[in-house]
Amino acid sequence: MLAAVQARTVLVQAATWSQRRRCCPACGERRRSKGSYPLVFRTLYGDVELDSPRLHRCLCQAADGPATASPLRDLICSHVAPERLYLEARWSSLVPYAAAAGLLADVLPIASGANRTTVREHALRVAERAEAELGDERPCFIDGCPAEWEALPIPEGRIVAALDGGYVRNWDDRKSNFELIVGRSVPEDRAPRYLGLVHGYDQKPKRRLFEVLKSQGLQANQDVTFLTDGGEEVRSLTELVTPEAEHVLDWFHITMRLTVLSLALAIRRHCRAHR
Ligand SMILES: [Zn+2]
Repeated sequence: MLAAVQARTVLVQAATWSQRRRCCPACGERRRSKGSYPLVFRTLYGDVELDSPRLHRCLCQAADGPATASPLRDLICSHVAPERLYLEARWSSLVPYAAAAGLLADVLPIASGANRTTVREHALRVAERAEAELGDERPCFIDGCPAEWEALPIPEGRIVAALDGGYVRNWDDRKSNFELIVGRSVPEDRAPRYLGLVHGYDQKPKRRLFEVLKSQGLQANQDVTFLTDGGEEVRSLTELVTPEAEHVLDWFHITMRLTVLSLALAIRRHCRAHR
């Protein structure tokens, strides 16, 4: 029933949209029809088949422009409903693409596209759009002066962001590896958010971290604690992101370093005793 309601709604909305754009937007003259072509619109309740009208170029338009126009293409340029893209991108960020496709097919009356390849392609499309929307990289994200920061409202609470790096072997070239930096940002009173990037490959690492904090309500007078292993890359990522930042070497890495030192001492003692 939901599929029927969805199909009917989409058909009516598409017809209204095309009807309103039948006339030339420049002079208002009715454009001649040049038939239509079939178009499939993928929604959460299955595929809706539409006829996309094609209209001749109006006489008022330059002859070197496109000969025909399809108004429906402006409305549904991606052929996939945004709510379906949202679910596909969200689920495939949590489980493998094939599992996300299986979940979609299990809970929704989806006729086509519930497979690993399509879900992956849609998720990558969403990722590319999100990447394009990300602002420019900056060496420093601190704006204004201390007097301005003091005038801001009292912030909600401290944000603790833990970041760590690790080396991952290249799947194709087994001899080389790359550094992956992952992090978790936890505000006192809001849900945590995660961050991941490849060091040296990502063009906007600091912007990415700043946007995560901003989405959690970061303001310039807010206390932020960065927990890292003290490594150069991770430390430089957290510098000049916000004025009230505190940089702490986390206990896990302190313990790791002490363990390595005590092991070295034990080996030295053992060698001396057996000389
Ligand atoms: Zn015209």
